Amino acid sequence: MSNNLQSSHKRQEILLKIAFNRDASSSELKKNGSSDFGINTFDDRVMRERLPKDAYKKLRHTIRTGEKLDMSIANTVAHAMKEWAISKGITHFTHWFQPQTGLTAEKHDAFLELVEGEVIERFQGDKLVQGEPDASSFPSGGSRTTFEARGYTMWDPSSPAFIVDGPKGGILCIPSVFISYTGEALDKKTPLLRSMKALSDSALKVLRLIGNTSASRVVATIGTEQEYFLIDKAFYLLRPDLQITGRTLQGAQPPKGQQLDDHYFGAIKERVLAFMQDAETELYKLGVPAKTRHNEVAPHQFEIAPIFAEANVGSDRNQLIMEVLKKVANRNGLALLLHEKPFAGINGSGKHNNWSMSDSDGNNLLDPGDTPEKNLQFLIFLVSVLRAVYHYGGLLRMSIASAGNDHRLGANEAPPAIISLFLGERLHTVLDDIEEGRKTKKAEDYLIDLGLSNLPSILRDNTDRNRTSPFAFTGEKFEFRALGSAASVSLANTVLSAAVAESIDILIEDINKEMSNGVELDAAVLKVLQKFIIETKPIRFEGNNYSKEWEEEAKRRGLPNVKKTGYALDSLVDKENVHLLLSKGCFKTKEEIENRYNTKLEQYITTLEIEVQTFTDLINTYIIPAAISYQEQLLSVVKGIKDLSDIFPADTLKEEIKILQSVSEKITKLKKGCAELEAKLEEGEKLNSLSKTAKFFSDHIADLLTDLRIPADELEKIVPDALWPLPKYSEMLFIM
Ligand code: ADP
Ligand code: MG
Repeated sequence: MSNNLQSSHKRQEILLKIAFNRDASSSELKKNGSSDFGINTFDDRVMRERLPKDAYKKLRHTIRTGEKLDMSIANTVAHAMKEWAISKGITHFTHWFQPQTGLTAEKHDAFLELVEGEVIERFQGDKLVQGEPDASSFPSGGSRTTFEARGYTMWDPSSPAFIVDGPKGGILCIPSVFISYTGEALDKKTPLLRSMKALSDSALKVLRLIGNTSASRVVATIGTEQEYFLIDKAFYLLRPDLQITGRTLQGAQPPKGQQLDDHYFGAIKERVLAFMQDAETELYKLGVPAKTRHNEVAPHQFEIAPIFAEANVGSDRNQLIMEVLKKVANRNGLALLLHEKPFAGINGSGKHNNWSMSDSDGNNLLDPGDTPEKNLQFLIFLVSVLRAVYHYGGLLRMSIASAGNDHRLGANEAPPAIISLFLGERLHTVLDDIEEGRKTKKAEDYLIDLGLSNLPSILRDNTDRNRTSPFAFTGEKFEFRALGSAASVSLANTVLSAAVAESIDILIEDINKEMSNGVELDAAVLKVLQKFIIETKPIRFEGNNYSKEWEEEAKRRGLPNVKKTGYALDSLVDKENVHLLLSKGCFKTKEEIENRYNTKLEQYITTLEIEVQTFTDLINTYIIPAAISYQEQLLSVVKGIKDLSDIFPADTLKEEIKILQSVSEKITKLKKGCAELEAKLEEGEKLNSLSKTAKFFSDHIADLLTDLRIPADELEKIVPDALWPLPKYSEMLFIM
């Protein structure tokens, strides 16, 4: 019992500490400003300053066009980069890349070299362009045995190098891809870059068809809205489940959760604001244009969004955002939770992936303009996206699958696992009209009269907002909203760009066919659009995606609703999907895709194994001991009163005994439950393929964990607060 008394004191101490921290942090608010923007990036301004004109031009050309780097300038660029880094006190560099763990990897090397006993600082072109980490321990799904584990990292010049500050000096980070000796992609970025190339090639064909001769390239653009939770670090340190699995595996519902909706867009607490400002200052230095910040729906849930960028840069930046948020939170005595569902019963966290295409002249290709009905180019791109989502819904679902995201999809904070697409009333009507061969209403009909004479009428957004759709058109971009908060955005964007590229090809082919039969351009386009508008109708849905009715309706439409990762991953190795990824060059071989599939299965299985282990440890070493302490207290009362039974009325102990029985009952349930979990785990692990194990875990383990926490959550509501060893939801989510 003394242990538990200690722990109760520990919790009290922590509350005091938190109160103190809060006061301290508000008294030393730091100044925030954008004057430092980009000072730690080797960006265009620095390149122009530090590179000879000719080298600058060549590098700029590579960045603009995505063409190969002229190796003759590699030494010059490396030298300039090193001099710039040294001027900032930097001693080390690293190729910074994104292996399949979903995190980023770095291996630091010093500029320092010994030449005939003399120390010099050197960084040559070959070191800039190519590195060779000993990468045998990165997940590869079986593609490389250790002895042939040569992985090369190669500079991606289109994403600027940057300096990450360290406690005793910073590190020059060179954004890189990671490939094998034979050119297989070992990372998340290579396929993304390849998909961008495919999209550019296809989209240019549309531009040329419409008569655009100036654009030389099209880029996919992304802007990521990142959600996260923040709690006091002291609480975090007392929750092994949060530390190990990223989510709470136990925790009773607090009396007040998010029912009052009083957190969304509410005033930001000072300690949180200080953290946000700190994080933004860091991000600015790294050239990440953090733009929006606000409170989210759940208590202690927040969002940060940068200005969009080219997909590879946007993806790098999202990784940086996640890393910087974590680091700065830690420095501020806070813990940042990126998991998709850290707390049961309240909203989880996602990541909205805003996606569009832009040509090299800066035109957004998904901008409908004032008269979308007359904008053939826009309509071709729009319908290509529709076709992509229609044909590759399964692949898109796969691209967002993870153990964490399974808790969120289809709960009431996120769209279900059904992939549908929302257009908004106006575009919906435009497409219906094309389908029926009707003339569309004029733009003026979409003016909103505010009924206030002093305000101008506004053109109603082309998109009335539907917040429940997994894939929504939002004005001049699509918002893919089903991504998990902790995920790398690479795969989703790879799949999306490849699928859209293929769809564009098919539309163009059909249009050309019509035209070769003598049909004029406009008529040919409309005819082809009509065909695909009809074909893709099943995925268009404008209603409430969270409703039960939609699940039923989607079933009638034949749309899949794959709820669990163990099943969702299968799409990656579907024949048609493999064909897409190969034909668009995202991967080179079928084996590469299968390796990725295996890696993903393994990650899913391991995540659940770790959760089960952590859960049973939590039950056995925290929760049951707390319950037993309470039993001891109750027992001594019961015994004591029994001894003096002659001075008490007959039914004196009824309630105490009931509590005692109830506690015992829950302990029994928990013990049985843990045994059952472990048995299931073993049963699943014995199956002879990763795919079978993953499916077995999806069917048996995921939900069992949810059910088994119930007796533990109930105990939290019975056991005295002073004996309870774990921070509660009511503390973690409300005290800061
Ligand atoms: P909301 O979705 O809440 O209306 P915004 O319209 O400001 O918010 O956009 C959210 C995100 O979408 C931001 O990261 C923004 O930079 C990004 N975004 C805006 N335009 C584009 C675009 N053309 N391509 C990709 N992302 C974009
Ligand atoms: Mg949004």
